[in-house]
Amino acid sequence: MHIPFQNTFSKLPDTFYQSIRPTPVSNPKLIAFNHQLAKVLGIDSTDTTELAAIFSGNIVPPGAEPLAQLYSGHQFGHWAPQLGDGRAILLGEIIGIDGTRRDIQLKGSGRTKYSRMGDGRAWLGPVLREFIISEAMHHLGIPTSRALAAVATSDPVYREQGALPGAILTRIATSHLRIGTFQIFATRGEIDHLKQLTEYAIERHYPDADGPMGLLRHVCDVQAKLVAQWMSVGFIHGVMNTDNCSISGETIDYGPCAFMDTYHPETVYSSIDQFGRYAYANQSKIIVWNLAQLATALIQQCTAKDAAIEEATDIIQKVPDLHENYWTKFFLKKIGITQQRENDRELINSLLEIMADNQADFTNTFRELSGADGRHHFKDPTIFDQWKEKWMNRLTYEETPESVMQSANPAFIPRNHRIEQMISSALADNFVPFETLSQVLSFPYQDQADHDQFKNPPKPDEVVQATFCGT
Ligand code: AMP
Ligand code: MG
Repeated sequence: MHIPFQNTFSKLPDTFYQSIRPTPVSNPKLIAFNHQLAKVLGIDSTDTTELAAIFSGNIVPPGAEPLAQLYSGHQFGHWAPQLGDGRAILLGEIIGIDGTRRDIQLKGSGRTKYSRMGDGRAWLGPVLREFIISEAMHHLGIPTSRALAAVATSDPVYREQGALPGAILTRIATSHLRIGTFQIFATRGEIDHLKQLTEYAIERHYPDADGPMGLLRHVCDVQAKLVAQWMSVGFIHGVMNTDNCSISGETIDYGPCAFMDTYHPETVYSSIDQFGRYAYANQSKIIVWNLAQLATALIQQCTAKDAAIEEATDIIQKVPDLHENYWTKFFLKKIGITQQRENDRELINSLLEIMADNQADFTNTFRELSGADGRHHFKDPTIFDQWKEKWMNRLTYEETPESVMQSANPAFIPRNHRIEQMISSALADNFVPFETLSQVLSFPYQDQADHDQFKNPPKPDEVVQATFCGT
C-alpha cells in the first residue's frame, strides 16, 4: 500500500517539535477503520494487517516524518509553561482527494520528550469513546477532528482501575495548531518563531488573512461559531484549556466531554472540573477568555504595539456579540425560525428556562418540537402549553419550520450511558455495540425506527455521573 505522506510541520525550526518514532506495540489488531474517511484521504487498502501495522505506529511509511509537537497553555486558567504531545505523535500529513491537507496523528503511541509523568499510552475505553464522539460530531455537521482507525494492542496500560487493554487511535484534523502553540513562543520571547508559526498558520488555514490580526479575526470567527454549534447540540467539551482550542476551528481533544441528557445550563460531567469552569453555559464566556490569550500571544510580534493592542482589543471585545449571533441563529433554527424577528431571543430563552426548571431532555424535547410536541418531557406540561401558544403564533411567519427543525435537532446523540455500555462490551471482546452505535450516529438527523432505543435517556441506574480524561 502506498500512502502519500508529507510533512510541512517538520520543515519548521526543530525547536517546534521532537522528531520521534512511535514506540512499537505487540500484536496490533485493527478493531475499527473508517473506510469513508480513508477514501477521502486516498487510502484504499483493505489489508488489515498492514493497516494495523501503520496505524499502531509499528511501521512508519515513507514520507512520514513523525514528530511530537511542542505547545503550552492555560489549564483551568493556570499557566502551564510547557506541554506538548505527550501521548500523541504526528505521523505526517496527507493531501486528500478533496485537495485538503490533513494531519494524521496517532494517540497512545508511546512516550515523547513532553510526556512528563505519563506513559504516552491510551487504553481501549477512551479510544473507542473518542472514535464514536468525534465521528458523531462530524455527522452532526460540526467541525471536528475525525477518527480514522483504532488498533488494539496486547500491551496492558496501567490506570487507577488496574491493567487495561492498550489501544491507539488515529485521528485526522486539518492541523493540530492550537492557541497554546502560539503561547509558548510568545511567552518565551521567541519572536522569530512566533512569526514563522503565524505565517505557517495563515498559509495553511486562512491564506487571505492579513498578518497576525487578520489571523486573530479568523480564529475568533470560527471559534465563536464552533462553541455556538456545540451548545446547539448540548455538547460540553469539558477541558476548554487553551492547549485544546484549535486554530482551525475544529473540535479537538475529546477527553471528559459529554452530550447532555437533561437540560441544565450549569451541567458539568468532567471529574476534573471541580468548580464548573467549563460547565455547559460557561463555554460562551470561556471561549472569549481563550481568544484573548491568543490575542496576547499574537501581539508580541507586532512592531507597532499600541496600534496592535488597540486592534486586538477591538477584535476580542466583539467576540461575545459574534458568538451570541451564531448562538441565536442556531437556536432559532431549533424552533423552526430562520429570519430573526423582535422577541425571538426571548422566545428561545423562555423555552430553555422552562426546560431547565422541568428537567426536560435536551435532545428529545427539541426533536419532538417538529411534531409540535415535547410536552411530556416537562414535569409540568401546562408550562410547555403556554410557551407553545406563543411559539405557534410566531411560526405562522415561517415557511417550512418542520424541515428547518428536522435538520437542526438531531434524533440521535452519543449519550453517555450508551458509550459506557459500548465500552463494557468491547472490554468483553464484543464490538457489536460499537458498530451499531457508529452506524446509528452516522445519520443523526434521520429517524431510524429500528433504533428508537438509542433515543432514550438513561434510566436512573444507567445515569453516568462523571466522565474521565482517560489519561
Ligand atoms: P489533555 O488534558 O489531554 O489536553 O493533556 C494535557 C497534557 O498532558 C498534554 O501535554 C498531554 O500530551 C499530556 N498527557 C496526558 N495524558 C498523558 C499520558 N498518558 N502520557 C503522557 N502524556 C500525557
Ligand atoms: Mg490536550
